[in-house]
Amino acid sequence: MIDLHNHSLYSYDSKRKMEDIVIEGISKDLDILGFSDHLDFNKNDPGNMFYKGENQLEEFSFLKKKYSQKIKLFLGIESSYEKDYEDKIISSFKKFPFDYKIVSLHFVDGVVISDWIVNLEKDKKSIFEVDYEKYFIQLESIVDFKIFNILGHIDYYKKYSKFTNHRETFKRYQNYYERILRKVIKNGNILEINSSGLRHKCKEQFPSVEILKLYKDLGGEIVSIGSDSHKTGDIAFGFDRIQNIIKDFKFKVYKP
Ligand SMILES: [Zn+2]
Ligand SMILES: [Zn+2]
Repeated sequence: MIDLHNHSLYSYDSKRKMEDIVIEGISKDLDILGFSDHLDFNKNDPGNMFYKGENQLEEFSFLKKKYSQKIKLFLGIESSYEKDYEDKIISSFKKFPFDYKIVSLHFVDGVVISDWIVNLEKDKKSIFEVDYEKYFIQLESIVDFKIFNILGHIDYYKKYSKFTNHRETFKRYQNYYERILRKVIKNGNILEINSSGLRHKCKEQFPSVEILKLYKDLGGEIVSIGSDSHKTGDIAFGFDRIQNIIKDFKFKVYKP
């Protein structure tokens, strides 16, 4: 049991103490738990420059030792990606000894996805009227960045979409998915299965089974698992279901 996507109070959008996270992880029989707090440099984002790596590193080292007999802890990071602040991301990656790096798309055109999607779908009556292409263009730019381990929640737009028939979007943008996943595999990056979608109205993990099948067909073998926990009870959320998916596809699970 591995959960590599957890947010603590070192993320602007979580209030959880790292030690509480560790204790919940132990109570859920996790063998491996990783912290992946937000690293953000978008000026419009409340999390801009919020991350305090020195403080977290100190706390992490203490907890790692304290709980070493009960659980294996890793310090990762979840960086948002936009081309404009690539240099800042790289310098943070060099500054702190992260065990793994997740990179995720949280902004499109400089706008946080939750707002971008709502605005894009405003006044639209069906999914067929919506042009999501910019999302995929920016997603592809992350993959071209290359300097990371895990590509986070690839079809995250589902979280905020008012539509539910996302298979249509998959079909329409399948070329993008194919190109992106081919690059992920070729570059030695890993696709994340993020269970947080099961907690939201899309009621489906990120990515959907169609995308995972494509990843497998293209030669993808390894996935990373994360709950994207932000509060009590979220850790390892829906992992029974995720484990069944992993078994069905015979994926290997990434360990840092
Ligand atoms: Zn994220
Ligand atoms: Zn996250």
